[in-house]
Amino acid sequence: MKQHANALNNCNNKINLLDLNPKDLYYFLNSLGQKTFFVKQMMNWIYKNKCDDFNKMFNISIKTREKLNKQSYIFANKFIEEKMSSDGTIKWITSLNNQKIETVYIPEKNRSTLCVSSQIGCPLKCNFCATGQQGFNRNLKVSEIISQVWQANKILKEKKIKKSITNIVFMGMGEPLLNLNNVVSAIKIMLDENGFYLSKRRITLSTSGIVPALNQLRNMIDVCLAISLHASNDKIRNLIMPINKRYNIQLILNSALKYLKYSKSNRGGITFEYVMLHGINDSNENAVELAFLLKKIPSKINLIPWNPFLNSNFSSSNINRINIFANILKRKGFTTVIRKNRGNDINAACGQLTGKITNRIKKL
Ligand code: SAH
Ligand code: SF4
Repeated sequence: MKQHANALNNCNNKINLLDLNPKDLYYFLNSLGQKTFFVKQMMNWIYKNKCDDFNKMFNISIKTREKLNKQSYIFANKFIEEKMSSDGTIKWITSLNNQKIETVYIPEKNRSTLCVSSQIGCPLKCNFCATGQQGFNRNLKVSEIISQVWQANKILKEKKIKKSITNIVFMGMGEPLLNLNNVVSAIKIMLDENGFYLSKRRITLSTSGIVPALNQLRNMIDVCLAISLHASNDKIRNLIMPINKRYNIQLILNSALKYLKYSKSNRGGITFEYVMLHGINDSNENAVELAFLLKKIPSKINLIPWNPFLNSNFSSSNINRINIFANILKRKGFTTVIRKNRGNDINAACGQLTGKITNRIKKL
């Protein structure tokens, strides 16, 4: 027992290399006496070869491997459950000290998107969102965010699914801007040519608009921004997103505009997400008001049919209403897309993520 406790302790003092962004990895390896090119070599082993055992890194000297083993380890959290939708969407569950997070793979014709979580639950309590209703446990570590991509890529390869991940969206559980440093570090690994090497135009951070963090973001990283607006005025937004009482629509739009000026990834404009809630935000007047609100901001509007979850009082606008709403926006010159629901037969659609799996579970 004592031995076991010591081993745990030992492990706790070691660094998981998946927690380090490329710069931090450089500093760490440098402290072990390694030169710059070694970072590339190490990242290649970790991210290209998915190798989590220093002893298998044959082109690294035994002495260096010993040093690495003494101070660090590589650990990607495993998916413990998997559920596949009839439309090809796959939902994976990771268990973190008995708390669960979800990751969703969405294959499409010309791309494959991985929807990742950034927190266990979410503290913001938007009342149309299952994650928000579930409560909040903690922020995810860099390694816990990165593990989702690491494991998804690995499993897709094992399943011989040719469509490897081309896009990543922070639209899983949690509010990414409340976990700013870890999310930014994870994005740096996703972008790095020795990491997952994705284009910044293919990584989207979706936020409910945490203004101070959004202001900081423009000095930290350039990615595609999606703002969860969901209302055409503060009165409605206050009702469905309590965080609006702290950061209202105008504050968010001003901050988003500043980000847009700096960003090269958002050349086509910022994406605004608008969940269509029957009788709440879906009238013709709301559409006109929304168009007026966004008229000075280069933007794309994503209309999202609301996805139901247990014990919720909302209902989605019907498709006729959504089409009429979309047409008003289109006539006003906005690029408007009605988002397809993917994976809602397995509760993998937006806002249905609670970390619970009810049926058709496959243990991994
Ligand atoms: N916290 C971030 C990202 C995670 S939520 C955010 O709010 O942007 C991802 C998207 O799903 C957000 O636009 C969110 O508002 C939306 N969403 C939440 N619950 C939903 C539901 N039940 N149906 C449809 N979309 C939902
Ligand atoms: Fe959190 Fe986003 Fe859900 Fe709101 S919509 S509760 S911010 S995850």
